[in-house]
Amino acid sequence: MNSALAPDSGFVAIAIDGPAASGKSTLARLLAQKLGLVMVNSGSMYRAVTWKALREGVDPHDHAAVIALLHRTRLDCGDDGTYSTIAVDGIDPGEELRSSAVNANVSAVSAVPEVREALVALQRDYLNRASIVMEGRDIGSVVFPDTPFKIYVDADEHVRTARRRDAGEHDPVAKRDAADSGRVHAPLIVSEGAAILDTSHHTIESGVAAAIEILKQQGLKLA
Ligand code: C5P
Repeated sequence: MNSALAPDSGFVAIAIDGPAASGKSTLARLLAQKLGLVMVNSGSMYRAVTWKALREGVDPHDHAAVIALLHRTRLDCGDDGTYSTIAVDGIDPGEELRSSAVNANVSAVSAVPEVREALVALQRDYLNRASIVMEGRDIGSVVFPDTPFKIYVDADEHVRTARRRDAGEHDPVAKRDAADSGRVHAPLIVSEGAAILDTSHHTIESGVAAAIEILKQQGLKLA
């Protein structure tokens, strides 16, 4: 195991970044299953803060109000041994995290630096407890820049939009990507050392196989 990953714990972090509906959640989940790691969905944390803002009628574009909301919110981020879990003030929002309203407003909330700072700390804390596959936008660039295991997952925009539509979700994918890539703090980028995996023409199985090849090339030792 590479001690540079988590000097204190010896745990491993695999960073999976990419735009909305690129296939990174599916890939991260299956990689975690295959490798026996915990899959951490960092987007759920940004969605959770957005969910509470909308419930309380806080304007997601009002940074001061979002920061005040953050300070009066308890986020419990754990895992069930396989996947990350999240509770907001003791409540699991479940599927409401993926509502159209949350989809439409999460990029505004995630652009607030104070929100990012608080959530990045919670994300890093996972590595003190387990080896993880974490998916998001800035995992390879900001959360775990020192991990050698980094994949940037991409897919054609029309493929990504169709995936959301087929899942019955209304999601302004292109708008979210523009906001996530264009923001000042921790924008979505291909981080240094990341290998790009385009899933447009992959099946789920062939995408996972390609990701495992990439990770082996990056030095991951499989048991
Ligand atoms: O991954 P998911 O689509 O659920 O992420 C929802 C939103 O959360 C993204 O559009 C982005 O605004 C934000 N996010 C982020 N950084 C991450 C993960 C998600 O800014 N690491």
